[in-house]
Amino acid sequence: MNCRLSFEFFPPKTDKGRDKLQQVITDLGAYNPEFFSVTYGAGGSTRDGTQNTITEVLKAGYQAAPHLSFGGDDEAAMEQMLNDYKDVGVKRIVALRGDVPSGSGAVKLVYANELVEFIRKTTGDYFHLEVAAYPEIHPESASFSTDLDYFKAKIDAGANSAITQYFFNADAYFYYVEQCQKQGIDTPIYPGIMPITNYESLVRFSSTCGAEIPRWVKKRLESLTSDQPALLEFGAELVSTLCQQLIDGGAPGLHFYTLNQAAAIQKVCDNLGLAKS
Ligand code: FAD
Repeated sequence: MNCRLSFEFFPPKTDKGRDKLQQVITDLGAYNPEFFSVTYGAGGSTRDGTQNTITEVLKAGYQAAPHLSFGGDDEAAMEQMLNDYKDVGVKRIVALRGDVPSGSGAVKLVYANELVEFIRKTTGDYFHLEVAAYPEIHPESASFSTDLDYFKAKIDAGANSAITQYFFNADAYFYYVEQCQKQGIDTPIYPGIMPITNYESLVRFSSTCGAEIPRWVKKRLESLTSDQPALLEFGAELVSTLCQQLIDGGAPGLHFYTLNQAAAIQKVCDNLGLAKS
């Protein structure tokens, strides 16, 4: 089976992490992804790390999409970064408001629709722009409809497609896409997929980013915390079933949050029968 894929990394902080990522790029590159994306710490905390990881991806022969946020930088610095990315061959950017890392003081966040406007103003149509979407609603949003309005503002400002926050309930995604279509949004919305490899970190991260773990899944994972192989097996089955539902229901592709690990995602891709080169 063929499916448009993309994989997301964070910039590794150690030499060991950088070496390991090379192997992860090779392992996941075998599934012919459209691109690899690399996260960015709003406030510029990972500026060099993101740029270096993007260079590694490009060197390996794949398309690379840096995540980018305004937080902390002025327009001149942002324009410089965009031009630097153009110079090394980047053609796609994931444009975000970002979150302020704790302890980083008074960084002024700029909404993603304003960043999209800025990128279009400074670099025209050069970049393919991805933005974030939240089928289970962004945690700061007052309501479903205001969240949808702000999502539409990003598309109207010139975003080409979107990647969602992860979720474990396919209905949330399909409902969201349907509501977007009713608002006249017909850009592709790629579901973001989180592999399940660790119960505690999944629960912690899900509560901050507003992703719901269904009660039965939470209970099952809780009961498997002392049996890692069984937890991985259950997680792979659950996520593979979710991906299959999404593909069958018409999702335009899948975007995986890799956490810089290949194994859990390889298992899902193989369960789905995705073609390898
Ligand atoms: P926005 O779209 O700007 O929305 C932020 C909040 O403000 C929402 O509640 C929205 O409803 C509201 N809002 C939007 N526009 C306006 C407006 N004009 N006026 C008033 N309210 C408004 N975080 C990182 O720090 N680094 C990353 O690399 C990163 N990568 C991500 C990749 C993906 C695919 C996703 C889904 C998320 C990622 N995040 C990342 C997390 C993201 O930065 C946070 O969820 C952040 O809180 C919101 O970013 P956004 O671009 O969605 O913001």
